[in-house]
Amino acid sequence: DGRLVVAARVAPLGADHVLLLVEDRSKAARVEEIRRDFLANVSHELKTPVGGISLLAEAVLDAHDDPEAVARFARRISVESDRLTRLVKEIVELSRLQGADVIKDPTLIDVGACARDATDRSRLIADEHRIELVTAIDEGCEVWGDAELVTTAISNLVGNAIAYSDSGTRVGVMVRRARQGVVDVSVTDQGLGIAPEEQERIFERFYRVDTARSRATGGTGLGLAIVKHVADNHGGNVSVWSEPGRGSTFTIELPAANASAAIEPPAPAVP
Ligand code: ADP
Repeated sequence: DGRLVVAARVAPLGADHVLLLVEDRSKAARVEEIRRDFLANVSHELKTPVGGISLLAEAVLDAHDDPEAVARFARRISVESDRLTRLVKEIVELSRLQGADVIKDPTLIDVGACARDATDRSRLIADEHRIELVTAIDEGCEVWGDAELVTTAISNLVGNAIAYSDSGTRVGVMVRRARQGVVDVSVTDQGLGIAPEEQERIFERFYRVDTARSRATGGTGLGLAIVKHVADNHGGNVSVWSEPGRGSTFTIELPAANASAAIEPPAPAVP
């Protein structure tokens, strides 16, 4: 971020010399700052559902002679605890991804199969919102990596596309070999869209354009941060094209298996 953090030590070295040790601590300081910010955000975000559950539990106790009110509060407790469960799961997932630079034991994965899995996971909710889910998947788009993580990343994009669109619209999931050495996964919606000045920020942890809408859809503000880390950890990247009122396309680019020198496992020894 342009700041230089240094640690310096001076030690006498013989009668007329001193040893000056200057260490660049910028990266360590930045990592520490990120960790501190993350913990502060996490405790803030956890307070909302935990506070909500405790207030609702009190309301249940107060309304014991009104079975309808008890049922209403109990349903809201269930919604808040589902959010809490998802939040904790995503916090654990993100802190695991932040700690690693690359996937430890990459396997050869079929990105098309990951996209099909991710789309299947969202079918029920798409039907509920009357959103048509369509796929266009090229066969043989393989990358080295972790299939569960890639599926989670695509699933987060499809979940958002549904959450930020109106009923009667269409969400498309496409997997193709974009150009030599690159596999593209794109998720397109005809939803709200995102203003240009927000497009960079949405990949930050806990950043939401519209907090009320995100909460109403059960969002945690971590989905896109997870997508970004998954793409980075696979040696790829994620980008967004969007126009408010017209919709958005999120694209994950991953190095294709036969061209990913960075995380390709070593070739087996020739007998
Ligand atoms: P959330 O859990 O709030 O959806 P994300 O990290 O997945 O968190 O997304 C961050 C924010 O980016 C969302 O709160 C929303 O404002 C915006 N966003 C993400 N995907 C879309 C989309 N497909 N269309 C419009 N806005 C989106």
